[in-house]
Amino acid sequence: MVSRRSFIAKSTLAVVGAGLSKSGFSTNSIQNNNKLPIVISTWNHGLPANEAAWKVLSKGGHSLDAVESGVRIPEADTKIITVGKGGIPDADGNVTLDACIMDEKGRAGSVTYLQHIVHPISVARLVMEKTPHVMLSGKGALKFALNNGFKKEKLLTPERKAAWKKWKKEKRKFSNEINIENHDTIGMLAIDKAGRISGSCTTSGMGYKLPGRVGDSPIIGAGLFVDGEIGGAVATGSGELVMKTLGTFLVVELMRNGMSPDVACEEAVKRIARKIPDYEKHQIGYIALNISGEYGSFCINPGFNFAIKTDDKTEMEDAEAWLKKL
Ligand code: ASP
Repeated sequence: MVSRRSFIAKSTLAVVGAGLSKSGFSTNSIQNNNKLPIVISTWNHGLPANEAAWKVLSKGGHSLDAVESGVRIPEADTKIITVGKGGIPDADGNVTLDACIMDEKGRAGSVTYLQHIVHPISVARLVMEKTPHVMLSGKGALKFALNNGFKKEKLLTPERKAAWKKWKKEKRKFSNEINIENHDTIGMLAIDKAGRISGSCTTSGMGYKLPGRVGDSPIIGAGLFVDGEIGGAVATGSGELVMKTLGTFLVVELMRNGMSPDVACEEAVKRIARKIPDYEKHQIGYIALNISGEYGSFCINPGFNFAIKTDDKTEMEDAEAWLKKL
C-alpha cells in the first residue's frame, strides 16, 4: 500500500518533472539575490505604478499598502484606457470595473461590475477588511463604496465615448481575440522588507464586452492568487481562458511543487494550449513572484511585457512567448 506521505512525494515529483521535462532546469527566473523589497507589474503602465508602490516599500511599509497605492495610478490615469477612469466601456457604453486584492495571510477582497468609482482596488480592500465576504458585485458593490465615502464619478471620458460611438456605428462585433482594444489589465505583486507578499489586479475588462460580463481579474485564483508561504501570480489577457484553467492558482501550486516562477508560468500557458482549441488567437500573460524574490513570466503570443522595481533595478522585461518557442 502506498502511504499518504510517499504518494504526496511522488505526485510532487511527477508535477515538477512534467514542468521541467521541456523547460529544463535552467530557468529564466531572476534570482534577485533574495533582495527585498521587490515589486513587479504587468505592461508599460507598470512602471509608474511600481514607482508609487516603491514609495511604500522603500520606507519599510506593508506590501498590501504598496500594491493598493501602486495600481491606483493607472486607475486614475484617463490616458490608460484599460484600467479605471477612462477605460473602454462595454457594448452599451458603460464603464464597468473589476478588481481584487490579496495579502500574505490569504485575506482577499474583490469587486466586480462596479460602476462610477475611480478606485475599485480600494473598494476591494475594504470588502476584505470590513466585511465577512470576499466579493461584492454591481449595485451592491457600488452601494458599499458610497456608504464608505467613495464619490460617484463619470468614468466614461469624451474620447472613449467617441470611440465607442464609432465602434457602434461600424456595427463591429465584440471579440476577445487579441487586438489593441482588448487588453492591459494591471496586475501587481510585491514583497516588502519584512518578506510579506501581496497582490492586486484591476481592470475595465475587455473593451466593448457584453453588458454584465465579468472577467478573470476580480476572481481569486484566476486573475490573482497569493500564498504567503509560496508566492503569487497575476494574469492579463483573455480572461475567459484564465478562468477556465484557474491560471494564477495553478501557477502558485506549481511553484509550491518546486517550479521556478517562469517555469510555472510556462506550464500554466501550456495548460491553456492543451485545453483550449483556439488559444493561438488569444493573448495571456502571467507574471509570478516567489517568496525568495525570484520572478518570472510567460505568455502565449509575443508582445507581453512587465515592469520590475528593486533597489538597483527599474526596468521593463519582455515575456517569453509559447508560440515563438514552439
Ligand atoms: N483579463 C482582462 C479581462 O479579461 C483583460 C486583460 O487583462 O487584458 O477582463
